[in-house]
Amino acid sequence: MTACGASLSNGLQGHGADLRDRVLDWFDRHGRHDLPWQHPATPYRVWISEVMLQQTQVATVIPYFERFMARFPDVETLAAAELDEVLALWAGLGYYARARNLHRCAQQLVAEHAGDFPDHIDQVEALPGIGRSTAGAILSLSRDAPHPILDGNVKRVLARYFAVPGWPGRSATSRELWRLSESVTPAGRAGDFNQAMMDLGATVCTRRPDCARCPLHNGCQARAEGNPQAYPGRKPHREKPLRSTRMLIIRRSDSAALLVRRPPQGIWGGLLTLPECPVDADPAPWAETTLGASIAIEAHGNPLRHEFTHYSLVIHPCHARLTRTVAVQDGEHVWYKAGHDVPGGLPAPVRRLLDQKEPAT
Ligand code: SF4
Repeated sequence: MTACGASLSNGLQGHGADLRDRVLDWFDRHGRHDLPWQHPATPYRVWISEVMLQQTQVATVIPYFERFMARFPDVETLAAAELDEVLALWAGLGYYARARNLHRCAQQLVAEHAGDFPDHIDQVEALPGIGRSTAGAILSLSRDAPHPILDGNVKRVLARYFAVPGWPGRSATSRELWRLSESVTPAGRAGDFNQAMMDLGATVCTRRPDCARCPLHNGCQARAEGNPQAYPGRKPHREKPLRSTRMLIIRRSDSAALLVRRPPQGIWGGLLTLPECPVDADPAPWAETTLGASIAIEAHGNPLRHEFTHYSLVIHPCHARLTRTVAVQDGEHVWYKAGHDVPGGLPAPVRRLLDQKEPAT
């Protein structure tokens, strides 16, 4: 290493040590110590909370977490459950692949690791649905193992404190943030430190940072530059693709609506939803051929837009009356009556369509 490199590295170490001490000191006085998954912070409870917290706020997650723990208190109970029941307790949190992965992962833990998480981080990362940051969180928050994490909150704090340019979705920026996270994570109290960084990002260094209240106020490079909100860099803007579909709300004479099960993979995989017919197809012959049902079209409802991460979906509802019984295959077709439970729960836009008033005939 050159003399210049050595002094830069020493500077970073000093800067990093400073951050560590201040963050831990702040955590002892202001961090969150009463989250339900902290009492007790077992690997299982930390894992479930971490997966629920991806894309979702703490306040929303808490009741889901408590219901989930009441029904599945440990890995074995979750592994033995029907997937439909896991999906039902997940309904409303979205991103259902997470729930399917939880279920698969629990079964793998029982089959290969006697129902417990391994100690080695590579083995934890190899489990379904667990990335590097979640693996680091599970092992550090539950066992105090010195692994770094890099969730959205930690990325924001590090990008600002060290003024790291670029969008964290770029691999060069992500590598740099991981390097910094590794360099600041302490060998002792790694669990407290990681929780503290998440808390700081969630409560102080938020989208609109409250720098006056921040323990990192003095060393923060983004604040010194005068525009902390410039970090982390924004994702380059790209229009999300727009897709369209037609959902058929086919009702029997008793008002029950037909639901069909989706294939296990992809959006809403394995859930029951309304039959979907391409927008350029004529719904009546389509239903005859695909569902074996004769239907009479009654009304076309107003389009409904639903946002997924990678595309926007415009749903064209079409209300129809069943004129000849559909051939029901067990579990694949279900007649849904308002107010009844649906195995696996209903995706939010499907629930909205079913809650709409039936057109007058
Ligand atoms: S000083 Fe401001 S920008 Fe810097 S870490 Fe603290 S809250 Fe974030």
